[in-house]
Amino acid sequence: MNWEMKNVTIVSPESVQNRANVIIKGKKIAAAGRNAKIDEELLSIDCSDLLAFPGFIDCHDHLLGTYWPRVGDRRPYLNWLEWDNDLKSAPVYAERQQIDSADLYQMGGYRHLLCGVTSVQDHIPHFVRELFAKNMPIKIVSQFAMAHSVTSFALAWGDGIEKEHALAVQRNIPFITHCSEGFDTETIHSVETLHKRGALSKQTVLVHGIALSDHDIELLAENACHVVWCPVSNLYMFSRTAPVKKLLEKGVNVVLGTDSPMSGSVNLFEELTVAKEYYAEAYGKDIPDKLLLQMLTTGAAKAMCLPDYGEIADNKVADLVLLDGDPQDPYSAFTGMNYENIKLVVIDGRPKYASEEFISVFEAMNIPFQKILVNGHRKILDGDVLGLLDRVRQAVKFRKQLDFLPVEPW
Ligand SMILES: [Zn+2]
Repeated sequence: MNWEMKNVTIVSPESVQNRANVIIKGKKIAAAGRNAKIDEELLSIDCSDLLAFPGFIDCHDHLLGTYWPRVGDRRPYLNWLEWDNDLKSAPVYAERQQIDSADLYQMGGYRHLLCGVTSVQDHIPHFVRELFAKNMPIKIVSQFAMAHSVTSFALAWGDGIEKEHALAVQRNIPFITHCSEGFDTETIHSVETLHKRGALSKQTVLVHGIALSDHDIELLAENACHVVWCPVSNLYMFSRTAPVKKLLEKGVNVVLGTDSPMSGSVNLFEELTVAKEYYAEAYGKDIPDKLLLQMLTTGAAKAMCLPDYGEIADNKVADLVLLDGDPQDPYSAFTGMNYENIKLVVIDGRPKYASEEFISVFEAMNIPFQKILVNGHRKILDGDVLGLLDRVRQAVKFRKQLDFLPVEPW
């Protein structure tokens, strides 16, 4: 599918280009910028007044845990295991267990798509992900090595820290593990343990990092590791989150993750709002909006070892999000966005989700769509989210409301 967006404002963490064009050929961006042109007749879509961002990359979730509401009667917790015990004994967990796993996974995909997330890192062993990752509404990061976490009570995911990290180095893929998520003795020494085991490098992506010490931060900076910041999940479960300002000052690549809605944010919008509020309250100054954009685009692509992602530029993968908002202040439009502001989501060069003004575009491209109301706003979507919601409600035998999927028929 070859087409172009005309007169759009391209926004990256570093720059804003007004009156630009984005030419899409197949799954790639053939050309992007003010002078982008191609000697070919193309379907041309006028995108004046719209802001084009790279598709957002969410670096931490557990898609099989996509359900609602949050669980946590005994907060704040000592570590993830205490929370997990409460989760497994909660009535809402029993309710969730009635739903087909493939449907939970799909709900996770739609939760992200409605927010402009085009790729997500689902922290789960490969053999589980592979059962569900096909035909998802968004892309699931598939190339990674992993451990669950760095303690003796970690789940037995992956082939062990040394082996998985070595594989990551060999293949230039991320080695991802939960780290420093809690305050027991083993958890607070997670980074030292990884260091001793030779598993700190530019491949290393540490999720949470709540209990990081100054020495840990030095080690992460020296070894060019990445940290996934999940403020909503951390503040909910532990009333604390990663020392994000210190990490940033030391030059550590910090990226964002929403985690699953049973401990984390309802959606990316809440994650951004809480990230901003937390930073302002904890440090007495604002986190730059540009930096939050970097955490979901270029920074995330670097952490996930996806060099073709996270930018709107020639030869990059055509994953894009169009928002409405003031072209003079595109970064505030980004951090303040909500469901109504997401105008078009393109994945692999193909429109996937949009507001109603894009109906003619979907029709011209022969893309089938379902008409839905998202938080009361008219949208179209290539997929069957209404059928999915029906199946979920049939499984739990009542009209379940899911805050992360505020979808109704239109
Ligand atoms: Zn997690």
